[in-house]
Amino acid sequence: MLKAVRSSVHPITQKNMFTNTEKITRPNNSTVHRTRHKVISVENLTPETFVVRIEKNDFRFEPGQYVVFRIPELKQGREYSIYSGANETYLDFLVREIPEGSFSRYLRHIKTGEIVELEGPKGFFILDEQAKQGAPLLFVATGTGISPFHSFVKSFPDLNYNVLHGVHFDDEAYGRKSFIQGNFTLCTSRVDKGDYFGRVTYFLKEHPVARDTICYLCGNSEMIEEVAGILENYGIPPENIRTEVFF
Ligand SMILES: Cc1cc2nc3c(=O)[nH]c(=O)nc-3n(C[C@H](O)[C@H](O)[C@H](O)COP(=O)(O)OP(=O)(O)OC[C@H]3O[C@@H](n4cnc5c(N)ncnc54)[C@H](O)[C@@H]3O)c2cc1C
Repeated sequence: MLKAVRSSVHPITQKNMFTNTEKITRPNNSTVHRTRHKVISVENLTPETFVVRIEKNDFRFEPGQYVVFRIPELKQGREYSIYSGANETYLDFLVREIPEGSFSRYLRHIKTGEIVELEGPKGFFILDEQAKQGAPLLFVATGTGISPFHSFVKSFPDLNYNVLHGVHFDDEAYGRKSFIQGNFTLCTSRVDKGDYFGRVTYFLKEHPVARDTICYLCGNSEMIEEVAGILENYGIPPENIRTEVFF
């Protein structure tokens, strides 16, 4: 089923052809900035998952943030975390095609040169100073929830981290090469071909986490809720359990 278009009242828009930005004044006088970007490529990683690369222009973001990605013709948008590093010259998005979905199915077939709009960057799923300065970090993702962590390590190569990536099959280890191999554990739930056969929650129940670890969880809400409970039982304070729910 399609998601409802968020604003029921038409906003007033002003386009600026030279900066590729659009300022939208909403009826309550709040403003939203939209930028326009050309699609560079779509690269398939698995039968379901792909990376959409678009021109960056002068778009800036903090690693871990997301955007509302809009297709002007569809008059629809969806949130996507930024997969690429902050210093790269393009913006990448890691997307899973949802068979019953509309937006992700459209994105898979988007053409090079097509124009998309971004609203943002948005969100607070970012690294604080402590994390950037070497505090022990644990990143737990399911599926495309690996995206913000990929952006973290591409942007800050000296982070002190371990990653748990939960997927169904071993070919879903998106961007694994970008992580320190000894610090990356692929948890596969449907085939025994990863580093651990089972869900991230089973792995965590068998492998205690030190209390001073700052934990970042990203992906589906069920995993996040269960993992947060396990981490709290290990004595990790709630302020050191940071979450981004995709669905
Ligand atoms: C802050 C935020 C960041 C996000 N970042 C990403 C991202 O980086 N990559 C990405 O692929 N998606 C991401 N999503 C999900 C994305 O916004 C869309 O919901 C998704 O692409 C499905 O859109 P759709 O129109 O195709 O299907 P819809 O009709 O909107 O959704 C159909 C159903 O698909 C399920 N679903 C949604 N996303 C996923 C997923 N990733 N994997 C499995 N099932 C899912 C849900 O149960 C949903 O009800 C993010 C969501 C949020 C809130």
